Amino acid sequence: MNDPKCKGQKFGHDFAIAGGECQNGCGITQVELSNPKPKPIAMPRPEPKPMPKGVHTELHDIAFKLWEYYERKEKFGLFLGLIRSRGKQWGYARLSEIADFKRRGQKYPIQFLMSKKT
Ligand SMILES: [Zn+2]
Repeated sequence: MNDPKCKGQKFGHDFAIAGGECQNGCGITQVELSNPKPKPIAMPRPEPKPMPKGVHTELHDIAFKLWEYYERKEKFGLFLGLIRSRGKQWGYARLSEIADFKRRGQKYPIQFLMSKKT
């Protein structure tokens, strides 16, 4: 069975009763035709959340310095994980030790860093 010509069209229907169904059998009613469903309104994209200030960025900052110091050979997440689990004081302590080593022209071994718990 072929669809009637008017199917899906705006015009060409045969409404015998005002508001009733099209007589051609396309399935639409005059009410539906005159009240098309409104298009869903596109929701505006939510603004990206700003980076929380304070602890979060501070931890990232320390992790970033360590990551740079070890020439990005390790994963950034390794340092961030260490600082998250051991605390930012731990991170600052390591950074100051690194600075001491630097003054002596030595490289702070990453094994030292990993083994320090506090
Ligand atoms: Zn029709």
